[in-house]
Amino acid sequence: MQNAQRWRWLIALLTVVALMGAACGGGEEETDTGTGDNGTQEEEFPADSTMAALQEEGSITIGVKFDVPPFGFVRPGEDEPQGFDVDLGNIIADRLGVEAEFVEAISDNRIPFLKDGTVDLILSTMTITTDRDAEIDFSRPYFIAHQRLLVPEGSDIKGLDDLAGKTVCTVLGSTGESNLKEKAPDAKRRTVDAYSECFELLQNGAVDAEISDDVILTGQIIQDDSLQLVGPELTTEPYGVGIPDGQTDMQEFIDGVLQDIFDSGEWDEMYDEWVGQYTGQEPDHPSRLTLQDALDLFPCVEFC
Ligand code: GLU
Repeated sequence: MQNAQRWRWLIALLTVVALMGAACGGGEEETDTGTGDNGTQEEEFPADSTMAALQEEGSITIGVKFDVPPFGFVRPGEDEPQGFDVDLGNIIADRLGVEAEFVEAISDNRIPFLKDGTVDLILSTMTITTDRDAEIDFSRPYFIAHQRLLVPEGSDIKGLDDLAGKTVCTVLGSTGESNLKEKAPDAKRRTVDAYSECFELLQNGAVDAEISDDVILTGQIIQDDSLQLVGPELTTEPYGVGIPDGQTDMQEFIDGVLQDIFDSGEWDEMYDEWVGQYTGQEPDHPSRLTLQDALDLFPCVEFC
């Protein structure tokens, strides 16, 4: 991305952030009965379904990132997160007619939080992989990212071949961690808990590069224009909504919500709002991939 483009993104994002209200809902879909507490039309589900249980509770707890603009981030001085993942969480909650409660889920907590019931869903820039799918369930893909390298301006690192002996930051429990081991085994790895830590280490020169999803790294560029993406796309990373293992009713419901926002154009609006208007790039549209296509991109390494 050119400097001018980066600045346009920064200014535009800050403007959007300044102007935005709290969470933005979405679901316009009207089905059968009643009006939820928040004024939206809520769907009716079989009494023994996961969705009916959530309606009974009146809320859904969703794990999102708190330090990853533009997907899940909290503005300084605020408590509530916002971003692409947060908007999608609000759309799902609206369709159920319940309140969305967001909790921070860093990469390594995502599966444990789903397994121990801390959250009902994960919407945390989570790539669908076969290993993860052995422990939880996924929706169909709702976003397609690509991993790249981020370096400080003037770095002599131009791609994977330059990483031998260099220190590269990755986040524990992320695909970046495993991709780095596989693709640049001679790099020194600095593994941290959160993306904001990699960002700081890169800024203060404690690491030479960071590997992660392009949208996450671009979120760091908008905070520090001296960082830049280098090299080609290293992987394709389809994001899925993380669902507790075996909740097929929830999986079908969320796949239906995703189909609706693909068909209505609402997904494209979300893409433009959080990504497209800043990068100027057309989306790699997730409707082109099925869940199986996504799983085929990350065959099993650990759990089979
Ligand atoms: N999408 C990758 C993953 O799920 C990297 C981003 C993240 O750690 O949240 O591991």
